[in-house]
Amino acid sequence: MAKYTGPSCRLCRRQNMELFLKGERCYTDKCAIKRRNYAPGQHGQGRAKVTDYGVQLREKQKVRRIYGILEKQFRGYFAEADRMKGVTGENLLSLLERRMDNIVYRLGFASSRAEARQLVKHGHFTLNGRKATIPSMLVRPGDVVELREKSRKIVAINESLEGVVRRGVPQWLELQKDAYRGSIKALPVREDITMPIQEQLIVELYSK
Ligand code: SF4
Repeated sequence: MAKYTGPSCRLCRRQNMELFLKGERCYTDKCAIKRRNYAPGQHGQGRAKVTDYGVQLREKQKVRRIYGILEKQFRGYFAEADRMKGVTGENLLSLLERRMDNIVYRLGFASSRAEARQLVKHGHFTLNGRKATIPSMLVRPGDVVELREKSRKIVAINESLEGVVRRGVPQWLELQKDAYRGSIKALPVREDITMPIQEQLIVELYSK
């Protein structure tokens, strides 16, 4: 699956907020939002006229960028969320949260979703005892994600696990740090997603 390979901080500057795409750097003074808090490009410091469409588009881009998903796949998630029972916007966020790479990030095995995605692709994790290498796999309640025995000495993973205290593990997940294992206790609900997201704007955008 294709992915965005350009500069991450540029995405945050475009959104005018921290999206936490670069792991530990995001919590330091090197964060580009702290140093240059204006949009990237030649006209970044000018005043742009913002339409309703622009606001909706920006919100959709924000969510896409947080989870590191390209447009086509994001539309697929939206279509699936729309088919599900319940509120489409909340279904969409729940689907994104259930991705395997997001689980690895949320449990603290990686300092960013991009890093988590790479760790999954490189076969460092199992899902219910079987090797899992597809970042977009969706987990279900009762599933168990575990770091493979041979990967437990990787310094970056251990450092990330130490840093998870600062981020915290969401209540729908459970981390057994010493066993390098995490389990999915329940499906994520809206309150579990703490980033400032107005998912209704995305529904309005795609409903035009
Ligand atoms: Fe965004 Fe992190 Fe870059 Fe700051 S350091 S601009 S939060 S990706």
